[in-house]
Amino acid sequence: LDPTGENFTPEELDIERALRPLSFDDFAGQDQVLENLKVFVKAANLRGEALDHTLFHGPPGLGKTTLAYILANELNVGIKVTSGPVVDKPGDLAGLLTNLEERDVLFIDEIHRLSPIVEEYLYSAMEDYKIDIMIESGPNARTVQINLNPFTLIGATTRSGLLTAPMRARFGISSRLQYYTTELLSDIVQRSSEILKVPISLDAAIEIAGRSRGTPRIANALLRRVRDFAQIKGNGKIDMEIAKYGLKALNVDAHGLDEMDNKILITIIDKFKGGPVGLSTLATAVSENAETIEEVYEPFLIQQGFIYRTPRGREVTEAAYKHLGRVKGNTQGG
Ligand code: ADP
Repeated sequence: LDPTGENFTPEELDIERALRPLSFDDFAGQDQVLENLKVFVKAANLRGEALDHTLFHGPPGLGKTTLAYILANELNVGIKVTSGPVVDKPGDLAGLLTNLEERDVLFIDEIHRLSPIVEEYLYSAMEDYKIDIMIESGPNARTVQINLNPFTLIGATTRSGLLTAPMRARFGISSRLQYYTTELLSDIVQRSSEILKVPISLDAAIEIAGRSRGTPRIANALLRRVRDFAQIKGNGKIDMEIAKYGLKALNVDAHGLDEMDNKILITIIDKFKGGPVGLSTLATAVSENAETIEEVYEPFLIQQGFIYRTPRGREVTEAAYKHLGRVKGNTQGG
């Protein structure tokens, strides 16, 4: 169960696309963010201007890409999609920018991973809708400035802390997405099951929602997997019994913590007496890279009250001991 979706198969990506809400009305939650965006979109539409450059940040799977598509839809404009590591050279970016029509959206996922050269090149495009391009080569080489159509850059990042200050300053709108409540996730699960044409009972939807790490991408992934159990082991309908059976087989615990979440907590308790422990030491101990722990796992564990950060590192809380059935001070568990 991959909150980043990086290891999704082509079929899984197709389903994800099919489940993506296309309008503000279909998008559940993030009320404050949505309320503001609706105002900005309305104003931009009224004035016939491009929407301000917009940055979405927050953990993976919470709807950043979805919102970029929704904004393009609500602005009634086209969207071009790319990602930080893919845009290698300024020339790649120039190709994308010069193909944008008036008010179009350019969506750059993982924008914190743009190279410094490309990032710098983006600045004047964002600011004045102008770029320099190099023409000819050798002794005749020279740069010419060309005008771009006004456009909206939408950036998404899991790590706003890694964004340079000049980059951040160029976004007029910046929104942080939050983890979803079980109630909202159960609405999302019900909507998805309608699209997938698999009947689901309300209690089963709530059960799946409660174990989804606050993340729509995981809720949808669990629904798909439980649907398989319903088709093979049941009568095609997802009821509480099938949901519980499927979730158990998938190794998802009652809080929706996955294997790595639990490994992190157990490691801090057993190897570091509950903490504090530094991020890189912890990363080595659980064999995961520090960046992934910081972006994907830790935010949820903090939000759920299992971990907190101190100046000396990460510590687990009483709730973590309780969740794992451990007794504080007894490092071997019990
Ligand atoms: P991110 O870009 O933040 O990693 P995505 O926008 O790709 O996340 O969302 C992952 C999946 O979760 C998508 O398939 C989308 O259908 C679903 N999703 C995300 N947010 C919502 C929401 N608020 N309502 C319904 N579905 C959502």
